[in-house]
Amino acid sequence: MGRNEELADRARNVLVGNYKQQPIAIERGEGCYLYDAEGRRYLDMIAGIATVSLGHCHPKVVAALEAQSKQLWHASNVVYTLPQIELAERICSSSFAERVFFCNSGAEANEAALKLARRWQRDRGQDRFEIIAFQSSFHGRTLFTVTATGQPKYWEGFEPMVPGVHHAKYGDLASVEALIGPKTAAIIVEPVQGEGGVRPAPKGFLAGLRKLADEHGLVLIFDEVQTGMGRTGPLFAYQRHGVEPDVMTLAKALGNGIPIGAMCTREELARSLVPGTHASTFGGNPLAAACASAVFDELLDGGVLERGQIAGEYLAARLGDMARRLGPEKVVEARGQGLLHGVELLGPAAPVISRCRELGVIVNAAGEKVVRLAPPLIIEHVQIDEAVDVLERAIRES
Ligand SMILES: *Cc1c(COP(=O)(O)O)cnc(C)c1O
Repeated sequence: MGRNEELADRARNVLVGNYKQQPIAIERGEGCYLYDAEGRRYLDMIAGIATVSLGHCHPKVVAALEAQSKQLWHASNVVYTLPQIELAERICSSSFAERVFFCNSGAEANEAALKLARRWQRDRGQDRFEIIAFQSSFHGRTLFTVTATGQPKYWEGFEPMVPGVHHAKYGDLASVEALIGPKTAAIIVEPVQGEGGVRPAPKGFLAGLRKLADEHGLVLIFDEVQTGMGRTGPLFAYQRHGVEPDVMTLAKALGNGIPIGAMCTREELARSLVPGTHASTFGGNPLAAACASAVFDELLDGGVLERGQIAGEYLAARLGDMARRLGPEKVVEARGQGLLHGVELLGPAAPVISRCRELGVIVNAAGEKVVRLAPPLIIEHVQIDEAVDVLERAIRES
């Protein structure tokens, strides 16, 4: 028995079986490469699900973590800590946000956003608590965020769900308007639906939501947990649409793999979360915050954001060529923005993903039939060439 198989066996004996893992154990990562327990190298085209955007063990982030680890690990939010302040300053100076609440994951960031929306409406004397979310969305696995997630398979057995959450059709403003009533508090939307199959918002959709939110006094929440931090080209996806949300949530790539989430908003809304209303023990933890500040500096001053934009255009072109070569009997569509792409197949994605792994490239699925690619923003053209060649071969053989 190989080392990978041995570790998979041990894992199955002690871990809750809620994931469907690839049959390899990853031991080490460097740049765009992962190495398994038998020393085999893989080109990482998913970056820990759109998370390790600077590449594995990026030296600047490692240095930030090492320095902070000798200074202070944790003091909790009963006191102020400098890394958290510095990170919030970076978020506010590079976005619409004026106030930030830190937590540890995407679900927690969205949970905070949804709670804030209800509370803010109540503070204005409005009995508005209903949330409009979208079909095929993904917002997390806490009860509130999984209720917002418009994929009923994730609700099975967990009912009753949180009351007052409705799902409109993504891209369809009329279906949103039809759901707005006197109890509506907020709209939550992904600028690109990630888990739901990598579907970018159609042109004008986010601007239309902004207009509806303004007309009806609703809080507009952009879930940028997956699209933020340069994943779709600009630092935040909302910046390409010319509209600002009232709340933006971040997590995945914010810490390049160290767990951290953020709920970013304007001062006027933030005022509703007075002391005692919401909290997180680890939120804005010095280790995580120091890493995330290093990520901002690399993206903005280290040129990684621009690198990612150039790589994104190249990947889009290569995937488009591939889709044309494979034709409509294999590929429905290749779509995406920046370095977040989905290749929708006619058949299931799982065998293609397994075959890619056998050929040394890691990708994953976003839904049953979509292969998702979300490589580190530092990916080079030759690596993109290799990945697309492997993907094409895997699709042909499927
Ligand atoms: C991954 C994801 C989440 C959930 O993040 P977790 O850190 O897994 O809780 C929420 N929203 C979007 C858009 C995501 O992609």
